[in-house]
Amino acid sequence: MQTLPLGHRFPMSKYELLKTRVSQEMGFIDLIESTPVSQGELALVHLPRYIEQVFAGTVPAQIQKAIGFPWSLGMVERARCSTGATIQAARQALMEGISANLAGGTHHACADQGGGFCVFNDVAVATRVIQVEHHRVSSKPFRVAIIDLDVHQGNGSARIFAKDSTVFTLSLHGAKNFPFEKEKSDLDVELADGTQDEDYLGALAHSLDVLESRFEPNFVFYLAGADPYKGDRLGRLSLSVNGLRSRDESVFQWARERGLPLAFVMAGGYGHDMQETAQIQMNTFALGYASWLLWQRQDAL
Ligand SMILES: [Zn+2]
Repeated sequence: MQTLPLGHRFPMSKYELLKTRVSQEMGFIDLIESTPVSQGELALVHLPRYIEQVFAGTVPAQIQKAIGFPWSLGMVERARCSTGATIQAARQALMEGISANLAGGTHHACADQGGGFCVFNDVAVATRVIQVEHHRVSSKPFRVAIIDLDVHQGNGSARIFAKDSTVFTLSLHGAKNFPFEKEKSDLDVELADGTQDEDYLGALAHSLDVLESRFEPNFVFYLAGADPYKGDRLGRLSLSVNGLRSRDESVFQWARERGLPLAFVMAGGYGHDMQETAQIQMNTFALGYASWLLWQRQDAL
């Protein structure tokens, strides 16, 4: 399994923590430095005017405010690297079955503007890149399911793919959480404040059944946000660490049993205790690696 270090989203320290722990404790995972996304790749999703504004530092004040942090060259570089890493993770997953980005999951970014700490929508851009690459060798549509389990709705992804029958957007999120004006995903599941493991896992199992009844994916992106955790500052839900492990395992197993390549990204996680957030993400990596091993065995049979 390949993972890609880089990109940072607020708060910065959590990415350093995760990268350090993965490199020290999971030496069996290959870490690859990411390649920054190009303007041409970004333009598969984002409007040229917005891309130019970000690169040139001329983003209108209200959009910059919606993004949530000030423009800088470093910000552009991080956003480009994070998006590039998700593209690389997707390509790697197509070759190996499963791969990941140590950051990514900037799902609030729309075609024409960023928002909610998201500059570019990495998963949307990576979806378009692998679809284009697939079309070079096949005339068949390449169908992508985006399973977004960050606690906040994937409003940017929902809007970008609203009229696209080749991409299925599934979002399980807090009904009362940001963004307060929701978009329409292909399947939205709104959860009440304080939702616990059992109800969450039941809703997820049902959602995966619905996804399967409505869509036949060739590939899965999984936004494994750590923010449904009960100790998250912004989450409003009440999942335990074990509940989140079961959540991850459900998605990995679902994809593996169907032979679907899967790339996962970290998305949000804002624990009162950053070590807990990092542990939840480490668990996702451990389960992803275990799933990769099972995938290899399955392949060998
Ligand atoms: Zn989130």
